[in-house]
Order: sequence, then structure tokens, then C-alpha cells
Amino acid sequence: MKIAVLPGDGIGTEIVAEAVKVLNALDLPFEMETALVGGVAYEAYGHPLPEATLKLAKEADAVLFGAVGDWKYDTLDRPLRPEQAILGLRKNLGLFANFRPAICYKQLVGASSLKPELIAGLDILIIRELTGDIYFGQPRGRRVATDGHFPGAQEAFDTMRYSRPEIERIAHVAFQAARKRSKRVTSVDKANVLETFQFWRDVVTEVSLQYPDVELDHMYVDNAAMQLVRAPKKFDVLVTGNLFGDILSDEAAMLTGSIGMLPSASLNASNQGLYEPSHGSAPDIAGKGIANPLATILSAAMMLRFSLNQEAAAQRIETAVKQVLAQGLRTADIFSEGTTRVSTLEMGAAVVKAL
Ligand code: NAD
Repeated sequence: MKIAVLPGDGIGTEIVAEAVKVLNALDLPFEMETALVGGVAYEAYGHPLPEATLKLAKEADAVLFGAVGDWKYDTLDRPLRPEQAILGLRKNLGLFANFRPAICYKQLVGASSLKPELIAGLDILIIRELTGDIYFGQPRGRRVATDGHFPGAQEAFDTMRYSRPEIERIAHVAFQAARKRSKRVTSVDKANVLETFQFWRDVVTEVSLQYPDVELDHMYVDNAAMQLVRAPKKFDVLVTGNLFGDILSDEAAMLTGSIGMLPSASLNASNQGLYEPSHGSAPDIAGKGIANPLATILSAAMMLRFSLNQEAAAQRIETAVKQVLAQGLRTADIFSEGTTRVSTLEMGAAVVKAL
């Protein structure tokens, strides 16, 4: 089991170090190799995704990624900015399925802005298609309008498009994920207005015939946005396109109130994946030893589950995380009165001890 470890910038190095300690504590035959990515790679090699890093990622079964970015790079040409490394990895590894679980641990119910009864026990999985939709559709650009409401005026345009194979493969991913959970999929679209998403709905419905044991329903994206804050526990697996998924996965993440707790995975057709916390490099707290490593540790658990076929080890990590929360240990971002504030290192050590 070969893991490419790419800590990146800011708190990335601090949180990935703790996840690596947790992985080592499992005593499984991992081969881990570390490489530079993001701003630190730009400083060292003049590019945020150097050839050697990309090669390592391609050869590995999975990539454990910290975070990239710092405001000091915001003036660089776009292709050289740290965030381009993630896009480059997605493209080169063919990562088309993004998994974002939103789980509300009972000890952290108070961190949510929703009422405890709405959120306690929440466990939903948002699956976002990652390589198509209006983000990548061609043509796009600026031009002078020849028709529309203001002919002759400058305008900008993008193209929303999805092909049948793109929809089919993400639908399969969603149905298969639902089989490991409570066997319900909600497909989110805008079929009432958009041709692309009427097609999406038709194809998802066709694919569902191969999964008679999984219940499928469809929901318009505007309603889904409402239901996520009204009754989020009604959902199990939610599958949607790139644009809607971008927005809804952030909304769902915030239901739990604690960004330092949220893992994510991006997978390709052969289950090779990139695993990273849902948050960024947090330059405001980097180097202070206070970042929450749990999102990264839980991302490592997802890596064991989805890319390395080590379900038991994944569950061991998840149970250990629940135990340290039950012990009242909290990093600053999830601290509340009556709990014990710990550093990044102490939190990592507590998870290792619980394992
Ligand atoms: P951010 O997620 O880095 O931080 C937002 C806020 O949450 C900050 O106050 C930060 O201190 C806090 N926070 C984030 N993770 C935390 C953790 N593990 N523990 C405790 N607190 C945590 O978002 P931002 O500030 O908008 O962006 C900072 C940089 O990160 C930017 O350069 C941005 O481009 C980059 N970024 C990278 C990724 C990625 O690598 N996938 C994702 C988002 C943003």
C-alpha cells in the first residue's frame, strides 16, 4: 500500500504529521513517501505541482494531502498559484468523484448554528461530480452580444454540459456508496429549467434500474438547499453535479459547525484517491500548534476505506476520534466551556493512544 504524503502549506504540515503518526500506529504495511506541493513547491522548484510530486502521486495507491495556499501568492500568475496543484492532481489522476461526509458528533452538537434536535446524529454523504459541468464546459469567454436583451453590449458566457458516461459513472459511485449505508440516494438537479439536468435526471434514473435495492428520489437544487437546513437528517447519500455540489457540500459541511472536523475524498475509476481535509491552509493560525488535525486524521480513515480496502482499520480510527471527543479533548476551534483545550500534537497523541 503506497501512500504519497503531500503536506503542502500553512497548517498542512502540522496536521498531516499527526495523521501520519496515526497511520503508523496501525501497524499495517504502508509505504509512505513525502513530497512538496503548493507554495512550498513553488519556492523550491518554481511550480506548485513539480513533475516529481505528480509522478509520486500517480504511482501511489492514494494521496494524503494537507492544504495549499497563502495570501502572499495571490499576485502570482494563475498557473503558478498553489491552488493550481489541486486542479492539476484532479486532472492528472482523473479524480471525478468527490466524497464529503457531514457527520455531527454528539459531543459537538453545540458547535452547529442549527437547533441540536435537527443536527444530533447527522450522518450524510455528499457526492459531487468533479470534472464536468459549467466549470469546464467549452465554449466560454467574453464577446459582444449579437442577440439577447442587449445586442451590441459586452457579455460573458459559460457552457453547462454533461455527457452520458460522465453522469453514469458518478451515479454508479453514488448507488454503490448507498449500498454500504442506508440504501437511499437523492439526486439533486434543476431539471425543471436546465436541459443538462433533465438529461442528468433521465440518466440517473436509468442507472438506478441496476440497483433495485437502493431507493432513489430526485430533488431540485433550490429545495435541497432548503431541506439541508430544515431537516438535514432526511438525507443519506446526495449526488449532484459540479456546480451544485460545490455549493451544497459547503452548506452541509457548515451544518456541523466545525470545519476542522471534516474530511474529504476524491476518487477516480480505479479507486485511487486524494484525501484531504475540507478546510484550507489556515495561514492565520499556521505555526501556532493549535490547528485541529482531526479532519486530516478522518481523511486518512477514508483513504483506508476507499483506496486501501482496510475497512476495519478505518473504523478503528473513527472510533478513536469519537473516544477522544468523549474524553472532552478539544482543539481551540471546537473548544467550549467544560472541555479540555489541547494542541495539535496533543490531539494527535490522544488519537494514537485511543487506537
Ligand atoms: P481556511 O479553511 O484555510 O480557513 C478558514 C478559517 O478556518 C480560518 O480562520 C482558519 O484558522 C480556520 N481553520 C481552518 N482549518 C482549521 C483547522 N484544522 N483547525 C482550526 N481552525 C481551522 O480558508 P481561508 O482562510 O479562506 O484560506 C486560506 C488559504 O487556504 C487560501 O490561500 C486558500 O486559497 C487556501 N485554501 C486551500 C484549500 C485546499 O488546499 N484544499 C481549500 C480552501 C482554501
